Amino acid sequence: MSPRPGQQPMLLDWHDGRHFTGGGRCVLCGRPTFLQSHSGEDVHKVCAERWNARNPGEARFVSDPPRARSKPGA
Ligand SMILES: [Zn+2]
Repeated sequence: MSPRPGQQPMLLDWHDGRHFTGGGRCVLCGRPTFLQSHSGEDVHKVCAERWNARNPGEARFVSDPPRARSKPGA
């Protein structure tokens, strides 16, 4: 596997529990989803990734911030 920039949509990292709301309707495809973006939009992760791929430069759907481990407070 050799991922090339621009060919694969960037995968979102939504492991944080706040993304799991248990129920909503995807704002992009209209089907039920349990996931929610950081801004509270019900959305499938794959739909958000696809949206990001079509809208480069937009920060509507973003990954969780990387876990700060042993990093002194800035
Ligand atoms: Zn969807």
